[in-house]
Amino acid sequence: TRAYLGAMEAARGLNAYITETPDLALEQAAASDARLAAGTAGSLEGLPLAIKDLYATRGVLTTAASHILDGFTPTYESTVTTSLWREGAVMLGKANMDEFAMGGSNENSYYGPVVNPWRRNGDTAALVPGGSSGGSAAAVAADLCVAALGTDTGGSIRQPAAFTGTVGIKPTYGRCSRFGIIAFASSLEQAGPMTKTVTDAAILLGAIAGHDPHDSTSVPVPVPDYAAALTGDLRGKKIGIPKEYRVDGMPAEIEAWWQKGADWLRAAGAEVVEVSLPHSRHALPAYYIVAPAEASSNLARYDGVRFGLRVPGKDLTEMYENTRGEGFGKEVRRRILIGTYVLSAGYYDAYYSRAQKLRRLIANDFETAFETVDAILAPTTPSAAFASGEKADPLSMYLGDVFTVTANLAGLPAMSVPAGLSAEGLPLGLQVIGKAFDEAGVLNVGYALE
Ligand code: GLN
Repeated sequence: TRAYLGAMEAARGLNAYITETPDLALEQAAASDARLAAGTAGSLEGLPLAIKDLYATRGVLTTAASHILDGFTPTYESTVTTSLWREGAVMLGKANMDEFAMGGSNENSYYGPVVNPWRRNGDTAALVPGGSSGGSAAAVAADLCVAALGTDTGGSIRQPAAFTGTVGIKPTYGRCSRFGIIAFASSLEQAGPMTKTVTDAAILLGAIAGHDPHDSTSVPVPVPDYAAALTGDLRGKKIGIPKEYRVDGMPAEIEAWWQKGADWLRAAGAEVVEVSLPHSRHALPAYYIVAPAEASSNLARYDGVRFGLRVPGKDLTEMYENTRGEGFGKEVRRRILIGTYVLSAGYYDAYYSRAQKLRRLIANDFETAFETVDAILAPTTPSAAFASGEKADPLSMYLGDVFTVTANLAGLPAMSVPAGLSAEGLPLGLQVIGKAFDEAGVLNVGYALE
């Protein structure tokens, strides 16, 4: 723990943490030492972790990287972090992120952008770590923690994992509790680990998975021993390559690593076949209607009365307006506007209701594909990490989510594993998408790729 606290201090330039919690960390580490000495160690005893600042942590500032949550110190702890502490883990601090988890580059944080520890060959220009769990990803990649928690609503674990050469898994919707995760789009998001190896991801997922009576969308199904499922043996397994994921403008080297990934899976004994997910092209528009719609509703609670920031006005309405106008950043305001629009009486049928129908069709495509294959292999992202400021146009940023949002819309488990380096020397990720509640199968395919 001391070594990591020292490394964090030396690497503040990356801006990976919003809040460092050294006193708490040393206290937890001392308690871990005592349990280890007493022979009562948990499965994560003494492991120093970074926690995305979207998780409510009792007594520790929790901001969601938003100005509107200024000074918000929860009186309760999220269920998944409670599970981590129960298993003996240590919290080093709260990781930086895009405001309310909206973004794909970590440039939308009130606390400033996170810097990717990776650089292009022979270049010193700063690159983004991806988002929204960019602080978690940078902290893992730069050895500022053993592992981290992220959240994934449309790719926010997998895309930053791909951009930083780390492993990230989004479990099945309902696998982990969302209690105490500050809500962005409740029907899409899940908690998940970001780690250096697939084995670490399996161990951490095992610790946070499971039913929680505080979250009625968490599902009471048994949690297997994920680490024990890692054999790397894929004999008898079929892996699908979705032909619709060969999108226009995808760099040839991404296609090449995808091909190599398929070869590695064949070498592990799998049969690789083509599958069709015909509604894939509707996934991005459907996501960028459903996610803002839910965000506009979830973020209605920030009114200057109950949480954080209050900017006074001459009456109540003006106080609301001033607080929300100053408290929310540009991207968050954009999402609230889009979400309110697509839910409004005149446009609900044209946008929200159609997006929900597309969501069903996208989920049906996966169901059909999983009648013949055990898992699907795809790239995680259509590009490697990009330069800060490069995607100032929100649409170009949204397009980077083309391969990740489908799993959220369908509620399926999906993981990003480092594939190799681009010609410029940057990490690229391969994505494994699995059947509902088959995280064990997904992790084992990832293990064979690693
Ligand atoms: N980049 C996507 C978005 O901006 C995904 C975010 C997420 O998964 N939290 O909505």
